[in-house]
Amino acid sequence: MNNEALVGSDDSPFFVIFTDLDATLLDHVTYEWKKAESALKACKQKKIPVVMVSSKTRAEMDILRQELDFSSPFIFENGGGIFFPDNCPVSPPAEAIREEPGFRWPLGPSYERLTYVLQQIKKELGWDIRGFSEMDIGEISRLTGLDPEQARLAGMRDYDEPFILEPQNNSRIQSLVDKAERWGLKISRGGRFFHIHGKYDKGDAVRKLITWYGEAHGPIFSAALGDSPNDFTMLKQVDQPVLIRSNMDFPGIRQELPGLIIPQATGPEGWNTAVLEILEKKADGGLSRYV
Ligand SMILES: [Mg+2]
Repeated sequence: MNNEALVGSDDSPFFVIFTDLDATLLDHVTYEWKKAESALKACKQKKIPVVMVSSKTRAEMDILRQELDFSSPFIFENGGGIFFPDNCPVSPPAEAIREEPGFRWPLGPSYERLTYVLQQIKKELGWDIRGFSEMDIGEISRLTGLDPEQARLAGMRDYDEPFILEPQNNSRIQSLVDKAERWGLKISRGGRFFHIHGKYDKGDAVRKLITWYGEAHGPIFSAALGDSPNDFTMLKQVDQPVLIRSNMDFPGIRQELPGLIIPQATGPEGWNTAVLEILEKKADGGLSRYV
C-alpha cells in the first residue's frame, strides 16, 4: 500500500471512509454525532466520502443523511441494499432501481421472499413467531421503545425481517437456523429480535462500493470504523480498520486486523480522534498504528 499520500494530490488514491452508526458515529445513548463534527468538516472540505453502514432501514438512514448533509451512498439493513441519493457525485450502477430521492441497489433477496419464507417456517414448526410485517406501528413502537414516527421508519423494510419468538431456547434457535439455511437464508440474533435475511454481510456491500468507487476514481484508500462483531466483516475489507471501544473485549483482534487503530475515547469522540489522526498521518506522509 502506498502511504505516501492518501488524499490531496492528483495522483494519490481516492480516500473513502465507511462507518457504522450506533455507538460509532452516533453516541450509544443520545444518538448525537456532534462530537465528531470537526473530523466530519475536514472530510467535507477534502471531499472524502463518508459512507454510513448500518442495520437501519433506508428510510431511517436517509433522514440522518440529510441531517449530516452527505451526498455519498449508504449501505442499509446490514448490506441488503445500497442507496445512492440524487445529489451523489458519481452515477449509481445500472442495476440500481429508482426510488425517491435517489436509487436503490438491491443486493439481498426481496422482503416478499423473506416474509414468505418466515411464514413457511412458522407453519412447519407451529411456533409463536411474529414478524414486523404482521405488526402495526403501535406494536413495533412498544417492542422497540421507538416513538411512533421512528417505529414507522424502522418498519419500512426491504431486505431483513425482524421477528420475535416465544419462548426461546437454544434448540429452537438451532432449528430456525437449519430451516432458514434450507431456503438459502440466514438467521441473526439482535438485542430484542431475531432477523431473517440473505447470506451477505456489511463486508460484502463495502467490497462492492470500493469496486464502484474504483471504477470512477482509480486506486482507492479505504478506512472503516465500527464497534461490534457485525462490523468486523467490513473492517476486514479496508486498508485502515478502526475499532471504536465498547464494553466488549475482543482478544486477538489486533492479529486479525493488522494496523488496527483503537482510539481511547468511545463513540463519536473516538470517531473524531481516529479520523483526524488518519488525515494527519496522511499529511505527515505515512500511516502508523497508535494506541
Ligand atoms: Mg454499532
